[in-house]
Amino acid sequence: MKLNFKGLRALVTGAGKGIGRDTVKALHASGAKVVAVTRTSADLVSLAKECPGIEPVCVDLGDWEATEKALGSIGPVDLLVNNAAVALVQPFIESTKEVFDRSFKVNVRSVLQVSQIVAKGMISRGVPGSIVNVSSMCTIRVLSTHTFTGSTKGAITMLTKAMAMELGPHKIRVNSVNPTVVLTDMGKKVSANPDFSKKLKERHPLRKFAEVEDVVNSILFLLSDSSASTSGSGILVDAGYLAS
Ligand code: NAP
Repeated sequence: MKLNFKGLRALVTGAGKGIGRDTVKALHASGAKVVAVTRTSADLVSLAKECPGIEPVCVDLGDWEATEKALGSIGPVDLLVNNAAVALVQPFIESTKEVFDRSFKVNVRSVLQVSQIVAKGMISRGVPGSIVNVSSMCTIRVLSTHTFTGSTKGAITMLTKAMAMELGPHKIRVNSVNPTVVLTDMGKKVSANPDFSKKLKERHPLRKFAEVEDVVNSILFLLSDSSASTSGSGILVDAGYLAS
């Protein structure tokens, strides 16, 4: 998708791998200045080689104080992609406090914190903005043992709407993209059982999972003025899965 983000500054979380990494590359190629936030420093080093001029920030977004220190004075941001998340798989009956806390801190609380920092900056500068939360089709249909993917992404649905309600009068749009399985490191782990993976794929009307590029294109559309009247909403990138 060819869009022009020249003159705009974007912040992408979970920028080291998978969907976040390709989102950084696409924004960089479309002229945006990009702040790339992730946890593993080596990923930022290789990304900075591919995308000269990006601003790398290495932080564990599950740590509130460290995130405040790393991003509290990040400066003007026009476009935000809240993409970082963990997929810690446990059946409900065996779920632990530690996995609950980690999942909600990274997948939900960091979205609140980073969005607050960015939205406060947009409001004080009096500029419009667009925020995209990378969610999942698991907000609607849970996969077995995905207790926390489903429940954290379900929380993101209502957080997206609450943010859209409150930030709309400031001309800040907030939306989500909701992919099915994408074969990133996370997606490969989740669909590691070949039998489960084959059966799951067959339940998709298009008989496939989503590609990283499909998700990135939807993110870029929601960031851009091409979706100027869309807020509090979500795009399913699910190969038709939820139609069945
Ligand atoms: P991925 O390949 O695992 O990449 C996730 C990125 O986020 C990594 O760079 C990771 O860094 C970073 N990250 C994770 N926890 C972090 C933390 N606490 N602080 C900072 N960075 C952190 O995942 P992905 O498949 O690209 O997923 C991206 C988004 O798509 C997530 O929100 C996910 O829930 C959503 N999604 C994915 C799928 C799928 O099948 N892949 C399906 C539906 C939705 P480290 O590797 O260094 O930890």
